[in-house]
Amino acid sequence: MARRVVILGGGFAGVQAAIELSRVANKNAFDVTLVADQNYFLFTPLLPQVASSTVDPRHIAQPIRDLRARREFRFVRSEAQRVDVERKRVRTSEVTLDYDYLVVAPGSRADYFGIPGARENTFNFKSLEDAVVLREHVLDMCEHADHSTDAAERARMLTFVIVGGGYTGVELVTELYELLFDYVVKHYRGIAAQDLKLIVLEAGSEVLRGVHPKLALYSMKRLAKKGIEVRVNSPAVRCFEGGVELRGGEKIISDTVVWTAGVRATELVEALPGKHDRIGRCIVNQYLQLEGHPEVFLAGDAAAAATALDAPRVAPVAIEQGEIAARNIDHIEGGGILEPYRFESRGMLVSLGMNYAVVDLGGIRFSGYFAWLFWNAVHLYKLVGLKKQVQVAVDWTLALLFPRDAMIVRRPRGCRYCDAQQEKAKVSAAGQ
Ligand SMILES: Cc1cc2nc3c(=O)[nH]c(=O)nc-3n(C[C@H](O)[C@H](O)[C@H](O)COP(=O)(O)OP(=O)(O)OC[C@H]3O[C@@H](n4cnc5c(N)ncnc54)[C@H](O)[C@@H]3O)c2cc1C
Repeated sequence: MARRVVILGGGFAGVQAAIELSRVANKNAFDVTLVADQNYFLFTPLLPQVASSTVDPRHIAQPIRDLRARREFRFVRSEAQRVDVERKRVRTSEVTLDYDYLVVAPGSRADYFGIPGARENTFNFKSLEDAVVLREHVLDMCEHADHSTDAAERARMLTFVIVGGGYTGVELVTELYELLFDYVVKHYRGIAAQDLKLIVLEAGSEVLRGVHPKLALYSMKRLAKKGIEVRVNSPAVRCFEGGVELRGGEKIISDTVVWTAGVRATELVEALPGKHDRIGRCIVNQYLQLEGHPEVFLAGDAAAAATALDAPRVAPVAIEQGEIAARNIDHIEGGGILEPYRFESRGMLVSLGMNYAVVDLGGIRFSGYFAWLFWNAVHLYKLVGLKKQVQVAVDWTLALLFPRDAMIVRRPRGCRYCDAQQEKAKVSAAGQ
């Protein structure tokens, strides 16, 4: 009878594990089921470009069933809620699945470090939906500010704060800069460049930790040149509706505070037995197996391999771990020797808006336009499937030739200004 392999998570690690299992020597010995709460694979490196209206949201997501057409695995769109490692069973929101082998790869979630009000009053930036919501909110603020005559209100609408100076925060702020300065200032008569404020708050003493200091410095200079305020040693201590408070009591008033400051393991992973690190990831052995359960593997953002505890939480690590987990399952079945995971840095790419990036490829470091071209080439190459590559390449070309699309497709939800307008309309309708 075929051995049942269940994979939890449809991101870099989970999808790669499923693909690898369709290639291994004993592939016919496995009955593979991939469970994910979304029916698409998301190419996260391009999320900031969704927020800035450079690429269409659908173009950076690949339906998992399109992958499946060529690969041999079953797909279940459902949220995994509990893993019973003793009974080798996973309960999802729709089905219960028994397994012989399990690969746990549900990625990570935002960590708010217990900061009061952070969860409730900031925008998250991890999912496709987050990027779409943020894009529409930014444009909504510009629509209101365009005709608002209240100076304090306008300042609050046109101040955009990113909490977290890692590569996600830095890439996001430069993309928002492009949207605001390249589009909004040119098309909204009531908004001038000097009305806009972009601020990055970093708790530590440097931004882009993990990137070579020289390139981090270039990036800082680049942000400063654009007028983006980067404030290091500035931890947020409280978030509230309409702003954020810093250590020392200073308050920044803004309708847009985006949280990119930290990640931790999902609840599913934190509930697994065995040792966990300080951000809740399972500490697994060098073969990525859970302590005491050699049939359970962890991969990607959910895993802290004992041999590579400091490995960054990035896509190449997740892809490699997904592959190794799959091959080790095959090795166990085929009586082969298990492969250890060892972290080897493949460098770092950070995009700083249209036409500029910094690249660090194991000693070869460069920045500027060619780095940006290189960044684009790498990301296009890595996008899953030719259709997505073409769609993104066309989006990038259109962005160079035409103004970006700035329509707000959904009626903004939870916007205090829209709600106030509606209330006013109701009162005036009642009075007529
Ligand atoms: C905005 C942003 C930009 C980034 N840019 C880069 C970059 O430029 N370069 C880079 O290398 N890395 C980048 N990263 C990091 C990279 O995305 C992660 O390291 C990588 O996605 C981790 O892969 P993973 O498979 O572990 O998790 P993910 O890719 O996050 O996949 C996890 C999957 O599991 C699903 N899932 C979660 N919980 C459950 C559940 N309970 N049941 C079922 N399914 C579940 C999720 O919906 C998701 O589909 C970025 C991340 C973000 C958020």
